[in-house]
Amino acid sequence: MKVIKFGGSSLASAEQINKVLDIIKQDNSRRIVIVSAPGKRHDNDTKVTDALIEYYNSYITDQSLIEHQNWLIKRYEDIISELKLSQSLLNDISESIRGLSELPKENNPYLFDHFLASGENNNAKLIASFLQKNGLKAKYLHPKDAGIIVKGSSCNAQLLSSSYSKINKIKNETTIQVIPGFFGVTEDDNICTFSRGGSDITGSIVAAGIHADLYENFTDVDGIFVAHPGIVKKPQSIEELSYKEMRELAYAGFSVLHDEALIPAYRGKIPIVIKNTNNPKHPGTKIILEHQNKNLPVVGIASDDKFISINLSKYLMNREVGFGRKVLQILEDLNIRWEHMPTGIDDMSIVIRERELTPIKEREIINRLNRELEVDEVDIIRNLSIIMIVGENMKSHVGVTSKATKAFSDKNINIAMISQGASEVSVLFIINKSEEKKAIQALYDTFFNIKKH
Ligand code: ASP
Repeated sequence: MKVIKFGGSSLASAEQINKVLDIIKQDNSRRIVIVSAPGKRHDNDTKVTDALIEYYNSYITDQSLIEHQNWLIKRYEDIISELKLSQSLLNDISESIRGLSELPKENNPYLFDHFLASGENNNAKLIASFLQKNGLKAKYLHPKDAGIIVKGSSCNAQLLSSSYSKINKIKNETTIQVIPGFFGVTEDDNICTFSRGGSDITGSIVAAGIHADLYENFTDVDGIFVAHPGIVKKPQSIEELSYKEMRELAYAGFSVLHDEALIPAYRGKIPIVIKNTNNPKHPGTKIILEHQNKNLPVVGIASDDKFISINLSKYLMNREVGFGRKVLQILEDLNIRWEHMPTGIDDMSIVIRERELTPIKEREIINRLNRELEVDEVDIIRNLSIIMIVGENMKSHVGVTSKATKAFSDKNINIAMISQGASEVSVLFIINKSEEKKAIQALYDTFFNIKKH
């Protein structure tokens, strides 16, 4: 039994929804369908979820709502009429969109979530009705009835672990169940959404709950590319990734799958496949527990920018008990998260994201490092990027880092810092942002574009 999730671009228009129908029909083990809200039809379009946010903002600031409501209703109406679905479905959806503006504003911590979730909720009704019209036995299922019970504050739903046994019951249904993604229901019956892009999380939770054989996540790309297609021309997609590798890649800019969506599938040992609704014959990228192919040391190259490094040095730092703790305490006091911490004998760098450091916090850090820790030097280095090569098989291959550093030196790229965790899943290079694209291309040519090299 498979759980199949379709993202917003796969459901953005009647044309796309017809492709979805074909995909579902091709395999009768595709029995649980998770849907997003309609996404963009073209680059300048607005996602339904974003339109719902604008609608909500106008509602809470007492502005006119009619334009928002009409836009949203028209969005569904266009799809409904093209797919020749019933007027009563359109009435139901229109009523639910207008009804949002009757929800209480006071003492309603989940009001925003109600607005957001309506995008997927209405779309699930639409898709269920379309599948029925095309002769499939299908049914819309609200997350509450699917057993997706959550706790947490607005837009930060966390699944209650007791939900899994409830979700498990839906596997006994013989019809195709169409469940809206992105939200669950709290024990006191409030709608609570996951963070943005959270339909992926619903799919993973349901797949784990029913012990699915596979969680198929359909999007608009042929899987996960070995490097960013905006930087490298036509990179190939990755055939197979382990959960750990996916986590590493997601950390550094690979955003095809929501990173919270990995956990339920990983714990439930459910393989995931990322596929393309527009090219369903392509095998896509499979995310699995362990690699079958042990030959490939590097599976992907990731990068992310907007990092800052706080570099400090003090002679005989290593002899001072508690030095590192004191440095980190300063960051903790200022509520700053740190990401990496490469060290030398007498120096230490703390790499943080740019957004963590306001000018006031920066001054405070420098003052305290000088005053309390009497450092010899402290420098703040900006405009850094991290570049990561990722692959679990690196631990059984000698010389991977040397190939990477050669690729950098051939292109005259200076490596500011380098770091590898004990698990050897990734090697991380910190370089100047201006060299980021060149570095990715150089690594790609070394590890993937063998002919060119
Ligand atoms: N529609 C929601 C969003 O745009 C959730 C999702 O598509 O997964 O964030």
